[in-house]
Amino acid sequence: MATLEIKNLHVSVETNDGPKPILRGVDLTVNSGETHAIMGPNGSGKSTLAYSIAGHPKYQVTDGEILLDGENVLDMSVDERARAGLFLAMQYPVEVPGVTVANFLRTAKTAIDGKAPALRTWTGEVKTAMDKLRMDPEFAQRNVNEGFSGGEKKRHEILQMELLRPAFAVLDETDSGLDVDALRIVSEGVNRLKGSSEVGVLLITHYTRILRYIHPDFVHVFVNGRVAEEGGPELAERLEEEGYDRFLASAL
Ligand code: ADP
Ligand code: MG
Ligand code: MG
Repeated sequence: MATLEIKNLHVSVETNDGPKPILRGVDLTVNSGETHAIMGPNGSGKSTLAYSIAGHPKYQVTDGEILLDGENVLDMSVDERARAGLFLAMQYPVEVPGVTVANFLRTAKTAIDGKAPALRTWTGEVKTAMDKLRMDPEFAQRNVNEGFSGGEKKRHEILQMELLRPAFAVLDETDSGLDVDALRIVSEGVNRLKGSSEVGVLLITHYTRILRYIHPDFVHVFVNGRVAEEGGPELAERLEEEGYDRFLASAL
């Protein structure tokens, strides 16, 4: 059992006018095997939380802690975070010229495990995972993120996650820009990992749609850089009916 703890997290983002405070005291604990949905209106700081966990240099932690089994994540480099078992879907958003998906996956797996995967089993694993995500085998020979459609980027994220088998996965707006079929396929990928490992999932989403496929154990509503309300799956149902107006009115 592992635990990802976020305590009193304050984060400022670097802007042209200097640092701008965004997160204003976030407390959140995710245990192995749990799925937490982070929901909230646009601009409430959801992606800032994801980038802060990822260690993006533009996001400065000004107070608070992020701990993985008691270890200080904020002291870790981006690579160390991955080796410690954190998977951050936005970690590799850029094009990687001349690096194919197949090579990229193998390099990432090698870096995280500290040794190269056995070629025979690995090739089969990649193929099986791609099949399940209904990805064309030729996709493995394309350069990472080069000309990927929105849906291909999301599938590639989930493919990485399934193969790297992290302790904790942070998925930011994995549902955005997906049609219903792609959403189902991507959600099935997340659910396969949940079913076959004790992964803890932080599912960040503006919309309740993806929660019909990936069922959260806990729901946290973000408003103005803070958790404004928390509950179980029923809270997501309530948000689907009522939207965020109630929270926005009280945030003024
Ligand atoms: P969400 O993901 O919930 O929509 P974000 O974390 O992306 O929210 O943004 C929270 C707030 O921080 C917004 O007001 C946004 O404009 C601001 N912000 C985020 N990143 C930057 C940036 N790089 N420069 C300036 N402002 C930013
Ligand atoms: Mg959210
Ligand atoms: Mg966002």
